[in-house]
Amino acid sequence: MNEVWTIGRILKWTEHFFQEKGIESPRIDAEVLLGHVLKKERIYLYVHFEEPLQPEELTAYREAIKKRVQRVPVAYIIGRREFMGLTFHVTEDTLVPRPDTEILVQAAVERLKKREGDVHFADIGTGTGAICLSVLTYVPDATADTVDISEAARKVAEENAEALGVADRVMFYTGDLLAPLCAAQADVDASGDDEPQAEARAARYDAILSNPPYIPDADIASLAPEVRCKEPRTALAGGPDGLAFYRRLIADSPALLKDDGFLAVEVGIHQAKAVAQMATDSGNFARTEILKDYGGVERVVVAWKK
Ligand code: SAM
Ligand code: GLN
Repeated sequence: MNEVWTIGRILKWTEHFFQEKGIESPRIDAEVLLGHVLKKERIYLYVHFEEPLQPEELTAYREAIKKRVQRVPVAYIIGRREFMGLTFHVTEDTLVPRPDTEILVQAAVERLKKREGDVHFADIGTGTGAICLSVLTYVPDATADTVDISEAARKVAEENAEALGVADRVMFYTGDLLAPLCAAQADVDASGDDEPQAEARAARYDAILSNPPYIPDADIASLAPEVRCKEPRTALAGGPDGLAFYRRLIADSPALLKDDGFLAVEVGIHQAKAVAQMATDSGNFARTEILKDYGGVERVVVAWKK
């Protein structure tokens, strides 16, 4: 029989199949999935087009293809995603880290590196830990607190912290936005008279970072099926106008920020000006910056307390 499934032949077949099914990047997805099944880099595939697949490899690859046409994101199928040059474990309980979010990380790293003394920051809605663990990697002496409402996401983030070798510099909390950090502070405050004034210690973060859910509820239905059907809705839905989480972060973060600290958030398309204005109008932030992503979209708002 001359119908042997070689690497080259199966890639070509999958590319066409994915294309027919409306998958956005058919060739790359085929290569990443096959590389995953064969436990090889993509480059290996290119120099081994003639190599035949073993029956168990074919079975595993077929399973992966089946999932992909059911619109499971590649990152969930292979269980990982590259972000900021680092590898993050991802599951269906966590948003897949997006390249756009690297803008927020870079902004935070640049600003935190300029600071003197111990740098301590928080990451709210941490998911896989992409933001927080990248900042910890690139700002070597920093420490961080993270919060996510999802206990399952917290487990993934903890695993990633171990794998990236920064677990000793990060604390994980499960709960609603800043509430666990305020509660942790209240515990410290209650724990002795010789502690410094509560207020001085409460304002303890150099930065509060967040990529909160920001899709207006009504827009979720029009997202790509990979996002709409497979990613957690709690990671996406930002209330009727998409700005619900910014309102709360802007109201509650000043009490936890040092006087010269900043809040930096990722925003959705056309949200930056409204979010910056909200920070200014709150009276608790002296100035704001808006940073664009590589596509020219206003993607990050930085609000400085002073
Ligand atoms: N930081 C990750 C990233 O950039 O890839 C994940 C961002 S995802 C857009 C938002 C995250 O916020 C999700 O992990 C979700 O579980 C979490 N979240 C949603 N509502 C929350 C809340 N009320 N308090 C804390 N975290 C929340
Ligand atoms: N950037 C994600 C998307 O477009 C949304 C993530 C978020 O809500 N923060 O699907």
